Amino acid sequence: MDYEGGYCPAKMQKYDCLLFDLDDTLYPLNSGLATQCRKNIGDYMVEKLGIEESRISDMCNLLYKNYGTTMAGLRAIGYRFDYDEYHSFVHGRLPYGNLKPDFVLRNILLSIPIRKVIFTNADKIHATKVLRKLCLEDCFEGIICFETLNSPEENSASNYKPEDTKSYIFDIIDHSSRAQPNTELPAAPILCKPSESAMIRALEIAKIDLNRTIFFEDSIRNIQAGKRIGLDTVLVGNSQRVKGVDHALVSLHNMKEALPELWKEGERSGNVRYAEKIAIETPVIA
Ligand SMILES: [Mg+2]
Repeated sequence: MDYEGGYCPAKMQKYDCLLFDLDDTLYPLNSGLATQCRKNIGDYMVEKLGIEESRISDMCNLLYKNYGTTMAGLRAIGYRFDYDEYHSFVHGRLPYGNLKPDFVLRNILLSIPIRKVIFTNADKIHATKVLRKLCLEDCFEGIICFETLNSPEENSASNYKPEDTKSYIFDIIDHSSRAQPNTELPAAPILCKPSESAMIRALEIAKIDLNRTIFFEDSIRNIQAGKRIGLDTVLVGNSQRVKGVDHALVSLHNMKEALPELWKEGERSGNVRYAEKIAIETPVIA
């Protein structure tokens, strides 16, 4: 895929990439997917990992807070499981039927003459399904997803023996209850947002220039991590600007009013990219 040609330095525009989170950014939070996803994660922890139901809520909150995703946290504290099985359990039963084609957003995205890429912590199957339901699958040049940063080899069955699944589990609830914990939290073997090093690595893989990219996200902590690594930021789903937020939009449908420069800049540079030429089936990445 050609990321080099097409622009003249003398006419260099401010942005040459629009980077979009997927869930609760391309569609509204009230679609019900996020709520069901949280429930499915809890069910997975009880059914597949044998964790007591009474501990699920506290554990999920602590793991999400400390590791970016519950999945990354579960691996960090010692649980071993197959990533694909986890993803299919957690995402497989989501109410995808609640997502409807969004032709307003589709027209907005296709009319912006700047390259667009998805950056999600979710797996590729989920990302592809969501984009298809929204009728946006051909609006993006590629998808940076779970598989981009986490190789299947590291998760292969040959890397651990079945008895390892019963190995030492770090008690994160006990750890958090201590005023002065005597141990550090274990490191996560999974890379994901909002880890700054993981984000930088992902953008390097996708050949994205941090200094010429604007990042659309609904998660404030991901936005703030993006800001720290040098991205310009747009908080989606909330009109309140806080630290780290350059722009805030209730919905991506308001992009044209809030960011008219995206249309002008792309045209001025002559760096017009028609995303519809590159199908999602040939992602940059993953
Ligand atoms: Mg999101």
